[in-house]
Amino acid sequence: MTAPRRITSKYPGTCRICRTPFRAGAAIRWQAGTPGATCADASACATAKAAAEARAAAPPPPPALVDAAPIVAFLTAARERGLKFPKARFVAPDGRAELRLSVAGSQSRTPGAVQVVIGDHWQGRIGTDGTTAGPGMTAALCQHLEAIAAAPAIAAKQYAAVTSRCSFCALPLTDAGSVEVGYGPICADRSGLPHTAKGTPTAQTTAELHEDDGGADWTDDDRDAADEATAARRETAVTAGRIARHWDDDLPF
Ligand SMILES: [Zn+2]
Ligand SMILES: [Zn+2]
Repeated sequence: MTAPRRITSKYPGTCRICRTPFRAGAAIRWQAGTPGATCADASACATAKAAAEARAAAPPPPPALVDAAPIVAFLTAARERGLKFPKARFVAPDGRAELRLSVAGSQSRTPGAVQVVIGDHWQGRIGTDGTTAGPGMTAALCQHLEAIAAAPAIAAKQYAAVTSRCSFCALPLTDAGSVEVGYGPICADRSGLPHTAKGTPTAQTTAELHEDDGGADWTDDDRDAADEATAARRETAVTAGRIARHWDDDLPF
């Protein structure tokens, strides 16, 4: 067998020993009869290999802690005012997708935990002790949730500014006063949040059953029906009801 030779690689590749990638044109060591190439610099290769092994052996970083207490207070205020499963919608970290938060009910395996969904995807939950669990609870998302928890009312307002929809029920906001605060008058009443109608229609006046249009005459049954319709519209959009089950607290752990 011939000795390894130092050559210029014709193709990009990866070092057989330390898995460091190299470019076409890079200096590498190659040995006839042995598949693959290695770094030209053996000591740099050994260092890179040790670092890779240390990374592989290190325990994964502990999940971030998020103090969701203000979000829970924000949402449970609505529950105490008669909404069975209050949710609030915010803007996801990407600035476009919808981030939905809800508080798990007393029948849940994790009562009081905040469920986190982005678009159609369940991300995870924040326990009452601030621990986070779930496939999507990255450091970036946890940071975003911290910011929402620090000022849920401001986050609701940002959601309304982006979507012209109510942060709580997702119905279009038809009044400038509602867009300004981020939610309609009925949801404001339910959540115990301030609201002042300005009587100025916004560009979006497509309200079907919207709170701003005759909401004052609604009975509780009307409101429940509207909630159910909103929920049904959303749930049909969700693949195979997977997220719907998450909302019902039927979580995998
Ligand atoms: Zn190497
Ligand atoms: Zn609303």
